[in-house]
Amino acid sequence: MKFDIKEEQLIIKPYENEGNIQVREQKGHYQGIRRKLSWLLMITFMLVPFISYNGQQAVLLNISEQQFRIFAITFWPQDFIFLAGIFMVAAFALFFVTAWLGRVWCGYTCPQTIWTLAYVWVEHRIEGSRNKRIALNKKPWSIEKINKKIQKHSIWFLMSFLTATTFVSYFVPVVELYSTMLSFEWSGLITFWVFFFALCTYGNAGYLREKVCTHMCPYARFQSAMFDKDTLIVAYDSKRGESRGRRKRKDDPKTLGLGDCVDCNLCVEVCPVGIDIRNGLQYECINCALCVDACDQTMDKFGYEPGLISYTSEQQLAGKKSVKFSYKLFGYACFTVLITALMIFWLYNRIPLEVSVLRDRNVLYRMNYEGHVENIYTLKILNKHQQALNYTIDVQGISDVSINVPDKLLIGGGQMLQIPVTLATDGYNLDKKMTNIRFVVKAIEHPSTLLSKDTVFFRD
Ligand code: SF4
Ligand code: SF4
Repeated sequence: MKFDIKEEQLIIKPYENEGNIQVREQKGHYQGIRRKLSWLLMITFMLVPFISYNGQQAVLLNISEQQFRIFAITFWPQDFIFLAGIFMVAAFALFFVTAWLGRVWCGYTCPQTIWTLAYVWVEHRIEGSRNKRIALNKKPWSIEKINKKIQKHSIWFLMSFLTATTFVSYFVPVVELYSTMLSFEWSGLITFWVFFFALCTYGNAGYLREKVCTHMCPYARFQSAMFDKDTLIVAYDSKRGESRGRRKRKDDPKTLGLGDCVDCNLCVEVCPVGIDIRNGLQYECINCALCVDACDQTMDKFGYEPGLISYTSEQQLAGKKSVKFSYKLFGYACFTVLITALMIFWLYNRIPLEVSVLRDRNVLYRMNYEGHVENIYTLKILNKHQQALNYTIDVQGISDVSINVPDKLLIGGGQMLQIPVTLATDGYNLDKKMTNIRFVVKAIEHPSTLLSKDTVFFRD
């Protein structure tokens, strides 16, 4: 037999637009938790930039000034190691949670999931239930359809704009951002980033949705490496559910030779990634439990036990006992605690001061009008505290040295002072042509904020 197959029919197009998945709205135990958590995280995200600490924005990642302020601590480029530590703790914490609870991050706390949930909620309020939305999309354009689409996209755009402006307010002080917004005086850079992030939000939550999770998210790619037979997953109990089949509520499934799955298809209609969990474990599943709530609702209607689809593990599905705390989990937990402890130790011992000393490159030394030897230096002092402090500069290593700086130098919070320093001493105080000396810079109000820098002093 000859098959007439065209070449393009043989090409698999994994990123081909399959159209948006229209999700049925579902209520239930797990969806209640997801909604409350989503609200909490969204409100936190919106409010954090408005929190003030010591008269300043409490959380501000000021890239232009190279200062990351988080409440009482300001991080500078020199503190990059701490940022690396935060990423390591986040990574190991995520490994721990994933190995234990599966993709609970994806289903409950990932911004992509939360924003998609919000956008679908708006879509449902304006265009109606899943079936109405599918019907509306198939209908030819009419005044009613245009009206609904305009309403939906306007609200989506407002949500995107609000999200993007909030996101940018983590990097640009809120006072500056919102005051210039109201007077239409945003700089080109701010305007670009707000509209760029608004476009990303609009595209990701409005259109791409589950495609971000299945094709773009790197976490989705490597999370399976952390899974084991005891990891919490959402699964369908095929032993109990099969053979699936439709029936009336009063029917006895045993006499019909059926399992508990009534083939209502609700678990598929509510799934945001468009899979049928009854086909077994699939990497697209984000553990959101929409299918669990939908199936429990059906089980309840038919008077069956809930849990045909449930949070379980491969071990439990096979009728074995799940290990609650494996060596792998223990290892991830140990690394998370160890790196966190190291970071706390580093933070506790961190000196919020940076000092650099540069010798004058033009002359090694010179003689002043008193006949004393002079050496010239430039000191750069960075006050990493958030408040202004007075600093003293002392010199060790030479006796009877005079220093031409005031007794105390006031340096603003997060400010750097560059100051020329001239040291002068009688040549008889110096045994050698080159003497090792040390500058000691100390904050008067915080004596533990003290740094010393070594350099040399020359004579002829
Ligand atoms: S299969 Fe169930 S838990 Fe997995 S993504 Fe779909 S609805 Fe969520
Ligand atoms: S929701 Fe439950 S009963 Fe309905 S098709 Fe899915 S597994 Fe079967």
